[in-house]
Amino acid sequence: MKASILAVGGELLGTDRLDTNSLVLTEVLRRRGVELVSKAVVGDDVVEIAATLGALRERAELLLVTGGLGPTRDDLTREGLARLLGRSVAVDEALWGRIERGFRKLGRRIPRVNRKQAERVDGAEMLPNRAGVAPGQRIGDAAPSPRGTTYFLFPGVPRELKVLVDDALDPWLAARAEDGAGFDQVEVRVACLPESVVEERIVPVYERFGDRDVSVLARPGEIRLRLRAGGPAVSRTPRLARMEAAVRKALGGAVFYVGAIEDGIEFEAAVGDLLTARGETVAVAESCTGGQLGQRFTATAGSSAYFAGGFLTYSNHLKMRLLGVPRETLREHGAVSKPTVLAMASGARERCGSDYGIGISGVAGPGGGTEERPVGTVHIAVAGPAAAGSHFEARFPGDRARVRQLSTQFALELLRRMLLPGETGRDLLPWSAPRGEGSA
Ligand code: ATP
Ligand code: MG
Repeated sequence: MKASILAVGGELLGTDRLDTNSLVLTEVLRRRGVELVSKAVVGDDVVEIAATLGALRERAELLLVTGGLGPTRDDLTREGLARLLGRSVAVDEALWGRIERGFRKLGRRIPRVNRKQAERVDGAEMLPNRAGVAPGQRIGDAAPSPRGTTYFLFPGVPRELKVLVDDALDPWLAARAEDGAGFDQVEVRVACLPESVVEERIVPVYERFGDRDVSVLARPGEIRLRLRAGGPAVSRTPRLARMEAAVRKALGGAVFYVGAIEDGIEFEAAVGDLLTARGETVAVAESCTGGQLGQRFTATAGSSAYFAGGFLTYSNHLKMRLLGVPRETLREHGAVSKPTVLAMASGARERCGSDYGIGISGVAGPGGGTEERPVGTVHIAVAGPAAAGSHFEARFPGDRARVRQLSTQFALELLRRMLLPGETGRDLLPWSAPRGEGSA
């Protein structure tokens, strides 16, 4: 079964109101394994409502509509659907009687305009609304395919929508899902690979499984891939497992999370889990990131198990005094250099008594760039139990905020690679400075 959502309301076409009801509907569809193929928004206009529903029903057999069931003249959802189906709309007198009695019990006179809320599309089943006046409606129609279309009309008031989703839509979907057909999703998260590189590597996955069931969501320094499989459980479960295996193979050690979307953990928490599993700790020495790496580590509850603490050494003076970076190193190579960050990393490690130390120093911009070290040049090092530390020189794109964010992202990745046996960090190369150094 495929579904589409239509939000009705002129205010949703303006600049100050967002259609959030569709998110509530999307969630229940996802939970019940129904594929959502499109969402639309229209104003309070009978012709638009009818035309949009007419277009949506060509590609989905379940149409969920929110809004436009109120008592005012601009509440036209019932009329729009009736127009599409060639049916009439009439007041349901039994329902009107109930609404009237409800108002009287509260000692209120019921305005005549409320009769509109008792209007029913011919053939619709009314869905009682515990949270408000207008009930929802469910209408089945034979067109356009032999399988027909089911329409649900829900009130626009978000609180009422939620109640009706729980009372009417969810049980209906649950009953229909009993034939075992459904829809599973899994999310794969990858850090520090450019989107184009991810896209290139998963070409074999597209070739084997088609591109409809794979979507790529990019954020700075992180890519999330959503893999979907539909159909009966006996076939979709193994299919999803095969897709997952193919993606893992394509992306290798860059993958830091595979699992349910709702369980997806943040990158820093994934790195923390690796440290916890090994019973090891880390400390940081930050310059251009100003404490953001420490902030990220400590954003995760329970991070005291693996995060020792750190140093915010913005000046050369503090790099020497707090971390023991040799004066000659700074004079000879500068603060933004491989020898300096290696010394920062081992200084943090030694002074905190941790298993690992991370050093970051760079030119976040917008000023301060030179020909040799343009804005975006960042050196990152990780010192660990092994004698040689790991180092990466990046040339990050973007503004100051983005350079700083990417710096913490790559610092986490450099550490993560060190914690994974057999990883070389060669994936990081697309981001490195032109003269190019992977991990040393
Ligand atoms: P009722 O039957 O209770 O009068 P209704 O179906 O007529 O409700 P509307 O008049 O369209 O609903 O909207 C009622 C309120 O709900 C408004 O404040 C509106 O902005 C809000 N609303 C409507 N649709 C949405 C939506 N898709 N997402 C979020 N809020 C919405
Ligand atoms: Mg409205």
